Amino acid sequence: QAKEAGRNGYRFFTAEMQRRYSRMLLLENGLRQAMERQQLRLLYQPQFSLDEGRLIGFEALLRWQHPELGMVSPAEFIPLAEKNGFIVPLGEWVLASALQQQASWRRQGLPVVRVGVNVSAVQFHHPGLCERIQAQLADSGLPPALLELELTESVMMDNPERAVEVMGQLHRLGLQLALDDFGTGYSSLSYLKRFRLARLKIDQGFVRDLLDDEEDRAIVGAIISLARNLGLQTIAEGVEHASQLALLRQMGCDQAQGYHLGRPLEAEQAGALLASQVPVAESSG
Ligand code: C2E
Ligand code: MG
Ligand code: MG
Ligand code: MG
Repeated sequence: QAKEAGRNGYRFFTAEMQRRYSRMLLLENGLRQAMERQQLRLLYQPQFSLDEGRLIGFEALLRWQHPELGMVSPAEFIPLAEKNGFIVPLGEWVLASALQQQASWRRQGLPVVRVGVNVSAVQFHHPGLCERIQAQLADSGLPPALLELELTESVMMDNPERAVEVMGQLHRLGLQLALDDFGTGYSSLSYLKRFRLARLKIDQGFVRDLLDDEEDRAIVGAIISLARNLGLQTIAEGVEHASQLALLRQMGCDQAQGYHLGRPLEAEQAGALLASQVPVAESSG
């Protein structure tokens, strides 16, 4: 009996592994074509200032509509793209798309706000990143300050000195840098001040139980005061409830994004949100 169950268990395990492996192959091999066949698109999640509740930016989030598998999460395919190096052309596509979208909003006379683009560590350390971003910014005709790059703490793990150097170059281009998922990684606080950051993004893991968990509240408080003392802004991610928003505002957090404030939007809906920001008196002039 036991032996039989064991064998069944084993068979089930291999079938599951087989299924996962073929899905991974399908995704890894499909990624190249996904770009050409227009299966990729960006959604835009709105970001708001906490003092005035103003729309101050969007975070661009990648989506892959796979012909057989349906919607695939970036949390699943970005790591594959990092592993096989495809993240470099993919990241360039993301950057170009976000800049084109912003330029198009500007041509339509909509208020132009900052757009944040996620940059993976592999992409960050790839030579020539700075030059390509500079060229893409020039193509778009946009003021560089309207572009924000979201980096994770992993960029500084292998080679913090080089990270400092590249971030300095990016900073000199005039764009803004944010440290994503802050508090989950391996930041050495002594490097933080050398990183030319505009803001820290408080990871959603600390926001989730903010009201009930004293330790999370202590961590968020510490991040906000650290940021303030270093002259950086803070933005909280994953805000799902009004009560979290109120507490973050009270704690002195500068900005926020999350389902409570707005889900990631299709470009067209994001444009409509921008249009709704234009004061009536100004839209005619
Ligand atoms: P992230 O940069 O930390 O993005 C935040 C994630 O939280 C997004 O998931 C967003 O949709 C989700 N989110 C936003 N508000 C809420 C909320 O209120 N509650 C909860 N539970 N979640 C919320 P998404 O879009 O699935 O992206 C996952 C991750 O994939 C991103 O985490 C980012 O690390 C990566 N990613 C997404 N797009 C790109 C890209 O273009 N390039 C690179 N390199 N990575 C990307
Ligand atoms: Mg991000
Ligand atoms: Mg994040
Ligand atoms: Mg996150």
